[in-house]
Amino acid sequence: MSTPNPKPHQLQVWRVNVRTRNLNLEPVPPSWEHRGGRGLVARFLLDEVPATCEPLGPYNKLIFAPGLLVGHMLSSCDRISIGGKSPLTGGAKEANAGGTTGLQMTLLGIKALVLEDVPAEPGWWVLHMSVAGARFDHADEFTGLGVYETAQKLVEKYGDKVAIALIGPGGEMKLKTAGIQNLDKEKVPSRIAARGGLGAVMATKGIKAIVFDTRGGQKPPILNPEAYKEAQKIFNKAVIDHPQSHTYRDYGTAAMVQMCQYFGSLPTRNYSSGQFEQADSISGENLRELLLKRGGVSNPTHACMPGCTIRCSNIFGGEDGKMIVSPLEFETIGLMGSNLGIGCLDDIARMNWQVNDLGVDSIDIGAALGVAAEAGLMKWGDGERALELIDEIRKGTPLGRILGSGAGYTGKILGVEHVPVTKNQAMAAYEGRAIKGTGVTYATSPQGGDHTAGLTIREKINHLDTKGQVELSRIKQINAAGYDTLGACLFAGFGFAASGPETIRDLLNARYGWSVDNNILQTLGRETLKLEREFNRRAGFTAKDDRMPEWMRHEPLPPTNAVFDVPDEELDSLFNW
Ligand code: SF4
Repeated sequence: MSTPNPKPHQLQVWRVNVRTRNLNLEPVPPSWEHRGGRGLVARFLLDEVPATCEPLGPYNKLIFAPGLLVGHMLSSCDRISIGGKSPLTGGAKEANAGGTTGLQMTLLGIKALVLEDVPAEPGWWVLHMSVAGARFDHADEFTGLGVYETAQKLVEKYGDKVAIALIGPGGEMKLKTAGIQNLDKEKVPSRIAARGGLGAVMATKGIKAIVFDTRGGQKPPILNPEAYKEAQKIFNKAVIDHPQSHTYRDYGTAAMVQMCQYFGSLPTRNYSSGQFEQADSISGENLRELLLKRGGVSNPTHACMPGCTIRCSNIFGGEDGKMIVSPLEFETIGLMGSNLGIGCLDDIARMNWQVNDLGVDSIDIGAALGVAAEAGLMKWGDGERALELIDEIRKGTPLGRILGSGAGYTGKILGVEHVPVTKNQAMAAYEGRAIKGTGVTYATSPQGGDHTAGLTIREKINHLDTKGQVELSRIKQINAAGYDTLGACLFAGFGFAASGPETIRDLLNARYGWSVDNNILQTLGRETLKLEREFNRRAGFTAKDDRMPEWMRHEPLPPTNAVFDVPDEELDSLFNW
């Protein structure tokens, strides 16, 4: 199958039917033109995916959509959004990732890649995309292999100039926690669009990997290069100068361990406490010290994509100087560390490598292991047992498939009430009882439990007070949906906030020749949330789905003894704007 792209400088929709193996290049529909990333995913879902369809069936589609700012190595703004109907939540799903996929897609002139239908016969394929079009290569040699080995072999086969999005054995098993991994700038498949089971959707299309070969491609046009350069300069300076950028460069997202410990919001032993007695040993400070001491490949500062000046990522090496995993992030430390009573970064890093290699979400698997521990399947703090349980997933045993289906299903099957999920998706490592604004986000976000949908912990407020949390979550959710639509890493938001709303306006107007105003971030965010909510409504979601788990309303969280007590009527008012 091959349809050459005659206009690689013009963004188009590439539509691949995996049954017929036809590629169609289509002009961008008018209603998609002003959207990218998460906003385009939301529009696409309403336009093309029946909301009540089976997520793993032929009517669900998978979309890859770079954000609106992707394509020019603007610092931290080349993220790829991947979306479809979620097998985990049953609702709208967008999961985004750094790395190189978004950037490379725009060099091929791809505004959106849509995979549709299911293959006529069983088998696995590598979808190869280039200026010559698309073709299906047999993937038999990669089937069953872990993500790391597959990525290495793909790079050997297709060359080191390609971007790759791929699934692991978890995806092949169609587990509901399976994500889609993307290469970072060192060709390590570490950037996972993790949430909501989109790797399982990719598996239903028979696609083990998508290779984007950009030879002969070119950067998307900028209509007013001078104005763009000026806005870029202002943004770059704001990002580089921002104190938070320095914190993340030095300590990575692991800097949040001590902040959460301070607020009593660090999930500990299946969310039964908000403080962990070994927080110091899993902190960002200890992580940095350890990596600097170990040397070798270890590095507390690393950029996941070309051009990122924040560089919050890291390379976690062992005592032998060899890499254990890259990066080791706060969410994994929280869910696979304190949440399991594990205080050893090496143990957490090894577990992280295993789930990455399986291609499953470390947040939902960490939460599932916490539930399993409460059910008596492992002792708190037992890293070896946690690795054994992860190995059950690799072997595809019944227990492994249960754990690989995420915390929600694991809790139901094991008879555990304390399951930290909303819309069946595990919450991240910020306890929503102690950080109530983030609890509001977990409850009401169309995406389900997801800190990136509207994190409130950095606000200088009393996080235990119910007052004002809905308003705060609303602001954060709108901004987050806006940044996800731009393809901007949430940490780029520090630079955008510091440089003023005119920076985003000027970048978009200069690049596309639009005349958007200073409110464009909020306009994009509101539209995106509205579309996602409408998709969920059509899928059968009601107000009762916008709730925290019942036990979090009556069980106090030590040491603050907070419960989640934001009234339902307030939650229901969040989207009244
Ligand atoms: S700040 Fe971190 S996650 Fe964001 S683009 Fe840079 S390295 Fe990637």
